[in-house]
Amino acid sequence: MTDVSRLPGAVQHRWDWQLHAACRDIGSGLFFPPPDERGDARQEREKQAKRVCRTCPVRNACLRHSLRAREKFGVWGGLGEQERRALLASQQRSGRRWRTARGGTAA
Ligand code: SF4
Repeated sequence: MTDVSRLPGAVQHRWDWQLHAACRDIGSGLFFPPPDERGDARQEREKQAKRVCRTCPVRNACLRHSLRAREKFGVWGGLGEQERRALLASQQRSGRRWRTARGGTAA
């Protein structure tokens, strides 16, 4: 019989937060820019996406994932691409990690 004690544990719990995402039934087009989008159109789309994020019960988990995974594109956890880059750069300068409201860390 196979000894399963040395196998890696289930990872489903790491992604369960996505089941509760406020954006779950919204198209990804609101959160990721089309290639030719610029200026006011981009700002308006991001503003609408961030409005959804403000209501999201898993916002912290989403932001934590995006920082860990170094997601380059789109709105994650209520932050846009430049905001996440700035947050990561700030963390690197200070040597600190971003803290969630519940005390978890990212990056
Ligand atoms: S924080 Fe925003 S992008 Fe992340 S899961 Fe929630 S609604 Fe979606």
